[in-house]
Amino acid sequence: MKIVVQKFGGTSVATRDGREAAAKRVKEIAAEGYAVVVVVSAMGRKGDPYATDTLINMVKDIYPETSPRELDLLTSCGEIISTVVMVNTLKNLGLNSIGLTGGQAGIITDLHFTDAHILRVEPEHVLRHLKRGEVVVVAGFQGLAETGDITTLGRGGSDTTAAALGVALKAERVEIFTDVSGVKTADPRLVPEAKTLTHMTYEEIVQMAYEGAKVVHPRAVEIAMKGNVPLLVKNTFEEKSKGTLITHVSEITKAWPDMRKGRLITGVTHIENMAKVTVFVEENTPEKDLKIFELLASHGISLDMITVTPERKSFIVKDEVAEQARFLLQEAGLDVEVLLSCAKVTVVGTGMRGIPGVMANVVQALTRQNIEVLLSVDSHATISCLIRGDKLAAAVKALHKQFHLE
Ligand code: ADP
Ligand code: MG
Repeated sequence: MKIVVQKFGGTSVATRDGREAAAKRVKEIAAEGYAVVVVVSAMGRKGDPYATDTLINMVKDIYPETSPRELDLLTSCGEIISTVVMVNTLKNLGLNSIGLTGGQAGIITDLHFTDAHILRVEPEHVLRHLKRGEVVVVAGFQGLAETGDITTLGRGGSDTTAAALGVALKAERVEIFTDVSGVKTADPRLVPEAKTLTHMTYEEIVQMAYEGAKVVHPRAVEIAMKGNVPLLVKNTFEEKSKGTLITHVSEITKAWPDMRKGRLITGVTHIENMAKVTVFVEENTPEKDLKIFELLASHGISLDMITVTPERKSFIVKDEVAEQARFLLQEAGLDVEVLLSCAKVTVVGTGMRGIPGVMANVVQALTRQNIEVLLSVDSHATISCLIRGDKLAAAVKALHKQFHLE
């Protein structure tokens, strides 16, 4: 049995038109002789009646202390509703179809409510239905803990469901359908002229996803990479969309020998709504330095772009926890400065390893636009700069142009 997993995101299933387009994509692949597993997200985004954020706000606005366990029970409904609607859309197109919750599909997770990890997938139930010739629609984003509790997998969790099912079912590939034509050289909302990449390696997409290109969730990519299942990112609304194929570099070079040379820069990504925190200390107070990081870690505040000099420690946190971070540090007797509403822009390229001059190009592109670099860090495959949030679009555009990605 040849299997393909197709995942449809929130924007794809939000409207009847979207769901009908999705059903056509299912019918096309089924006509090619594939057994199809469909993974759906909740319908729509914030404000839409059954979107995840709408469900959360429904109780949180009145009862802010709602427990994570009950929040998961609530938000899992979004995908279940979407599953039932999708089953009927498929049936209407003449496809024999059945809907399953994440738990029924064998997605077994740990007990970390609202951000659970998949421990294993028990695919027997899904396989049985596929063998009967049914299209199996699975509610994304959710699983079942061994205790019998319903859990959810965190933001982008439906991508993770699709990848995990793809690996467990030994699918030929996992297709991630969304509202853009594939993975692009920058977020098309900021850079309309961004190009769709025809192919990329798992490593490239992981870097881009971690640095803000949320088109595929990084956890999903890691699962697919370990399980050797190719990902194909496509547009629900385009017929015969080629999309972006994501696989191992060895597979790609078979089809595109040019890839062997490697590309220097893959794309430009960004993360908004970050706060820069600077803590001033006297020189040579290692105990104090340690206290800063321990204190924030013990309150579950995660830090990024950490820059340490003898007299100051700088890092970024999400805007929403910045006040808490300030409070904790001040209570500990530290001298703190917070700058809200910053953005992290990142140039990603696994090919830039060891190539000189990339940083100089980044700085040149930004300074030409009078964009101040507040912090910068680099790794073997990324260069990131922190800038003021109001300069975000200009910065991404400038970097995109500087590296000739248009
Ligand atoms: P879905 O609901 O289908 O999961 P998401 O909103 O999670 O959709 O992801 C699709 C969105 O990701 C696009 O609408 C696009 O604005 C955004 N995006 C950010 N960076 C990129 C990128 N480099 N390439 C393509 N899309 C991107
Ligand atoms: Mg998504």
